[in-house]
Amino acid sequence: MVKPLGKAPTIPMAARDRAVELRQVLDDNAHRYYVLDDPQISDAEYDRLFRELVDLEAEYAGLQTPDSPTQRVGGAPLETFTKVRHRSQMLSLGNAFTSAEVEAFFARAERGAGHVDAFVCELKIDGLAISLTYQDGAFVRAATRGNGVEGEDVTANVRTIRSVPMRAQAPERFAGEVEVRGEVYLPKARFAAFNAQLEEAGKPTYANPRNAAAGAVRQLDPSVTAKRGLSTFMYQLEPSKGVATQADALDLLGSVGFRVNPHRHVAGSVDEVLAFIEHWSEKRHDLDYETDGVVIKVSSLALQAELGKVSRSPRWAIAYKFPPAEVETEVLDIAVQVGRTGSVTPVAHLRPVFVAGSTVRRCTLHNEDEVARKDVRIGDTVLLHKAGDVIPEIVRPILERRPKGAKPWVMPNRCPACDSELVREPDEVVRRCVNPLCPAQRRERLRHFTSRAGMNIEGLGEAIIDQLVDAGFLADAADLFGVTVEQLLTLEGFAQRSAQKLHDSIAARTTVPLARLINALGIRHVGEHTAALLATHFGSIEALAAASAADLTAVEGVGPVVAEDVARWFGTDEGRDLVRRLGAAGVTAEPVRAAAGGPWHGQSWVLTGTMDALTRPEAEERIRGLGGTPSSSVSKRTHTVVAAASPGTKLGRAQELGVRVIDEQAFLDELTAAGG
Ligand code: NAD
Repeated sequence: MVKPLGKAPTIPMAARDRAVELRQVLDDNAHRYYVLDDPQISDAEYDRLFRELVDLEAEYAGLQTPDSPTQRVGGAPLETFTKVRHRSQMLSLGNAFTSAEVEAFFARAERGAGHVDAFVCELKIDGLAISLTYQDGAFVRAATRGNGVEGEDVTANVRTIRSVPMRAQAPERFAGEVEVRGEVYLPKARFAAFNAQLEEAGKPTYANPRNAAAGAVRQLDPSVTAKRGLSTFMYQLEPSKGVATQADALDLLGSVGFRVNPHRHVAGSVDEVLAFIEHWSEKRHDLDYETDGVVIKVSSLALQAELGKVSRSPRWAIAYKFPPAEVETEVLDIAVQVGRTGSVTPVAHLRPVFVAGSTVRRCTLHNEDEVARKDVRIGDTVLLHKAGDVIPEIVRPILERRPKGAKPWVMPNRCPACDSELVREPDEVVRRCVNPLCPAQRRERLRHFTSRAGMNIEGLGEAIIDQLVDAGFLADAADLFGVTVEQLLTLEGFAQRSAQKLHDSIAARTTVPLARLINALGIRHVGEHTAALLATHFGSIEALAAASAADLTAVEGVGPVVAEDVARWFGTDEGRDLVRRLGAAGVTAEPVRAAAGGPWHGQSWVLTGTMDALTRPEAEERIRGLGGTPSSSVSKRTHTVVAAASPGTKLGRAQELGVRVIDEQAFLDELTAAGG
């Protein structure tokens, strides 16, 4: 507590200086975190510094300033978005790091409000606070928290998030203007996949799902937001619409169609709260979203009002933060790894260590700039955590324990696999091996070629590919179709039956849909989605190979960078040779049958959102198989829009135009009924 002015003891110079320093560091990092979505220190480290400042300001009255980070919520709204003033301030939360601090919160609440019979424990979702406004049950606006008083208008982007209802299911309970607050988050798997994609493209990755979610919500183009796979958990209702407790508010939100976190508990005692915390401190690693703590709230809304708030936090709630899942380990080596498109990434080999639910042996260091920034050296003892609870990451080296003579790590300038010179393009953070014959790239390309998203060859795992390459039976994808049963029998682990089986499963995949074949080739920047666009547009591999960059840019959804990459790939001797040899080996694409007869002949189908049962290209294949045409934009002539999870703006457009909309299940049913 800050003591009143006047009685203030003199403040030692050292404390004054430290406070100034801490404010500067916290402000800089908050800017990186909230405005740039690109933090440079871990949340635990930020929390430690924040706590140090809180303690210092509490110790010396008069040290606190109104602009101290301890008095402020979040960061400034971005200039590029329209600002929205919140009807009431959107607060942060006070933190507790120990059970004693949770007990102290109980004692304070009871001192302020008399007896409190119920506290609600909720998981603290590590996302981005969002405010949704409804007018008579209809969604009208979404805003970020910003600095708590003013946020950014992100309505168009939030409209693309599938779990945000556009209408409350019981509008009579939502009469007038109602605000629902909660958290937008990115599931762990989405975060990991998105970062992998960024890394492959040579772009900087996100430090955690919270920043990745914030980046997705603060896009100027809603179609980009739509693709990221955001979800929500809502937890607050204003005004209270007749409910008297937080527990009931959560139930009401769930019953009118909002996504509410199921893991909540109404507790009558501090022991029950501590048990809930204990349970989730381990179990949280099994969830598919990141939670960094437990929020404990006085349930009675009347008591909440009585308790009020103090500067940036309510007095009726506190966030218990799980201890950071940070462990120490040793960097045994830093090796470099060559990816499918030649990107060369440094990887730390670690003394195996258990963290956040699994044993970690290796961890990417992303690129040379990152190694230099963190100054990680071979032999260092390092702090390790999992970004977003999934991706192992070195937080920092522990300098006091650095062995004498440890040298800064230097990125090799030649490829470790083929010794050709590595190239770093001006706008990229990675170096690449540009030798198309590089054996490491070949291996990765083969893995990609045979993978589920590529030719989908059953039974051909990475270990077998390695065996085939090592035995000299396989240099590229075209060789695969010439591998004989006799050759397979020479490999360890194969008997007649298993060799025959694998041989058959390779042979069974000589004819595949064109989109699969294009994706399998492993052209830089061409994934499943782009491959499907190219397949629909060009109809054959020959037509695609003959296309110029200008022809390719004419395809809707293909930008100039991708067009260049595709044209360049087919322009190289290796690219042309591979296509020719695949053809000679009998690999063909199924004809694209958009124009042929079939029950859906002449129908244009638009897919939006993420399906559970099928990937986008698979769904498009099935539509084509029935004679329909998958299309990427909605018009009056669109036959049907399939809105799966987290649909994009296409859904809104379909509703505006009155186009038929069905969900994933209905789509699957119709496919089956039509014989697809
Ligand atoms: P906070 O994350 O400590 O807690 C408040 C927020 O929790 C609320 O605003 C709300 O958005 C969220 N929340 C999630 N689930 C909730 C639930 N069930 N009920 C209520 N609220 C819930 O506070 P903050 O102000 O959002 O952020 C501060 C934190 O951000 C710091 O503790 C730090 O970890 C991190 N940070 C890190 C850096 C860095 O450089 N690494 C910089 C600034 C901030």
